[in-house]
Amino acid sequence: MFHTLRSKLLVFFLLIAILPMIVVGFISYTTQKQEMTNHAERSLSIQTSNMTDEISRFLKERVNDTEYLSKNPVMMDPSSSLLEIRDQMYYFLDIHDIYDDAYLLNTEGIVIGDIENEVIGEDISDRPWFAEAMKGQTFMSDIYYSSILNEPALVVAAPVYDINQDIIGVISPSFDLSNLYNMLEGYTNEQQDNGWGGYTFLLNELGEVISHPDLSKVLGVNYLDRQGFSKERLDLLVDQREIIEASDGEVHSFSKIESFPGFDQEWYVGVAVEESELYASLNDLLLRYLISFAVLIFLLTFAVYRLSDYIVRPVSQLVETTRTFADGERKDWKYVSAYEEVNHLNATFDRMTKQLEDRENAHKKSTMVLETTDNGVFALDRHTKQITLFNRMCEKVFQHDKKYVIGTTLDHLMKQSKPFMNFVNTSNLEMFLEKKEKGSQFEMECTFNGELKTYFLSISTLPKLEGEGIHDELLVVFYDLTEKREMERELLRSEKLKVVGEMSAGFAHEIRNPLTTIKGFIQLFNEQDREDNLKYYPIVIEEIDRINKIMNELLNIANPNPSNEKTNVDVEDILQDIVLLQESQMKKNHIELETFLHGNLPELHMNRDKMKQVLINLIQNGIEAMPDGGRMNIRTYLEGEEADKVVMISIEDTGAGMDRETVEKLGTPFYTTKETGTGLGLTVSYSVVEDMNGSINVSSEKGKGTTFTICLPVQADGEACEVE
Ligand code: ADP
Ligand code: MG
Repeated sequence: MFHTLRSKLLVFFLLIAILPMIVVGFISYTTQKQEMTNHAERSLSIQTSNMTDEISRFLKERVNDTEYLSKNPVMMDPSSSLLEIRDQMYYFLDIHDIYDDAYLLNTEGIVIGDIENEVIGEDISDRPWFAEAMKGQTFMSDIYYSSILNEPALVVAAPVYDINQDIIGVISPSFDLSNLYNMLEGYTNEQQDNGWGGYTFLLNELGEVISHPDLSKVLGVNYLDRQGFSKERLDLLVDQREIIEASDGEVHSFSKIESFPGFDQEWYVGVAVEESELYASLNDLLLRYLISFAVLIFLLTFAVYRLSDYIVRPVSQLVETTRTFADGERKDWKYVSAYEEVNHLNATFDRMTKQLEDRENAHKKSTMVLETTDNGVFALDRHTKQITLFNRMCEKVFQHDKKYVIGTTLDHLMKQSKPFMNFVNTSNLEMFLEKKEKGSQFEMECTFNGELKTYFLSISTLPKLEGEGIHDELLVVFYDLTEKREMERELLRSEKLKVVGEMSAGFAHEIRNPLTTIKGFIQLFNEQDREDNLKYYPIVIEEIDRINKIMNELLNIANPNPSNEKTNVDVEDILQDIVLLQESQMKKNHIELETFLHGNLPELHMNRDKMKQVLINLIQNGIEAMPDGGRMNIRTYLEGEEADKVVMISIEDTGAGMDRETVEKLGTPFYTTKETGTGLGLTVSYSVVEDMNGSINVSSEKGKGTTFTICLPVQADGEACEVE
């Protein structure tokens, strides 16, 4: 997932932006939180201590009031009448309206003064506050449950001294505790208005709840027990102005009302606040932080997305372009214009593809040339002898498919393809491989499937292809010259024939006439001359006949025969005539003759005598090639289609055969290997058959035999027989 550039950019930017943001956010949040917490806690404890001050002042005032009353001269005078005392009490109540009554007790604890008359004379010496006051000091009681009033009560009492500083009694103005409770309720309300909720309550030294909005809890619950606190712990918290996390999700802040003369207690003022309310602003703060954080991340993500798009889009477009190019498609792509680096890259890519295309085209062209040329081309590694190149012409000549050849070794292919083996052996290719010769060009002859072929060979070293691991390669290019050489020979022969023909015409004419004359005279002398000369005359005549025979054949070459009459000729008919004539000679020479005649050959339009001469020449040569006997097969058959039909006559012997040199010289006038031969038979035959638009082919093997094949077109104007 994080492999794409886009996701990497996204992650990278988010990380470098968000990490500092988290750190800064965290620091500023915690400091702010700390400050706000401190602030909230401080204001809570300030409030608590303010309340404490006020309550303390209230209590002090009550003590002062009581002391003030005890110092009233009427009270201090033991002789004061009840009325006088009451007067003073009324006066006191008028000024301090929180009091509703006052009691004056004598030293025995008997009530001697009271606003109403109800308790006068009652003995209340059993009250603890009486005993305390009698000790000589003002005393304010703890809040306790009064069984008389049936509700919590607080009593202040002070000793009354006479002018001699002797205690003459105890005075205790009675005030309604609800005044104190109202005051506390006032704080509670104030707090509610503050928005924190909560309430104010009081604890006494023992941890008992002595004031609470819920009156049922007053003097019924011990706070310390309930919270599992010791008094020391509470004192420590008060000293350090710390807040207590109480049960039921409340937070309590405490402050202490210290004892003072007349108030021998230690009270604790507690303010309870809902924790969630106290820290509500903190939650607000956190929410604000989270929202701004989310907005920031969103904006950042969007910005980075746009940025990554800007960076990535041209790159992915280039990738797409490269892909289409690699798939071989070529189109004119339009790039999005982006930043300079990518524009550069695009331009370079274009240049590169152009160059690649040019190179590919050049490569295609050279491959095409290589595949269509008539030259056989192959290449091989000098070291590994592996074939690296093998063109179509090679496939044809060596009869092996390129795909099986490329990569195989020279030795392997030699085993697979006999023509290739012949080729390699004849050309001495292995010597070139080993000798590291620069190259060479030569002509060579090589037999493929019994056919002799002439090739022109060019062997050279291929230039090194850097980086491909191929060091030295040998390039072999060859060209089939067989046909060309054959044609050249043919041309030479017909040129020669032409010259000889022209020459012999004149030559024969010049010799023949005197020969006739000589012959006539010799015949004449033969009849008249002396006997002992007689035996020479037949020899002379024989010799002259021989000259005449040569002359006749020479004349045949030159074709001076005026009666070149052409008729429709059945070749098989002529053959049968000749066979009949030659049969006895063949038998004498132990030659077996067999004829395989087609039997229904079309008639050919030609000069019958000349054709007969040709056939006699060839059959005679065959007989002469088998002096110790042998076999002769004569065949006739048809080949080709329609207008290109040809009649084929083959004369096959198992005689001496010829070497290549002799075959090449065949048809050359006067070329003979026989003692009494003229060397003109084949010259004449070639000339006659060529005249008929035909051809004579020879295949011969020294020591095994020879086959002459005459090819004659059925239609005189048909396609000429080609020399193979
Ligand atoms: P000639 O028969 O008078 O020698 P040709 O022109 O008929 O002249 O033949 C030329 C030469 O060709 C022969 O001398 C012989 O060497 C060779 N030749 C021709 N036909 C055959 C054959 N059937 N077998 C072997 N050699 C042949
Ligand atoms: Mg002959």
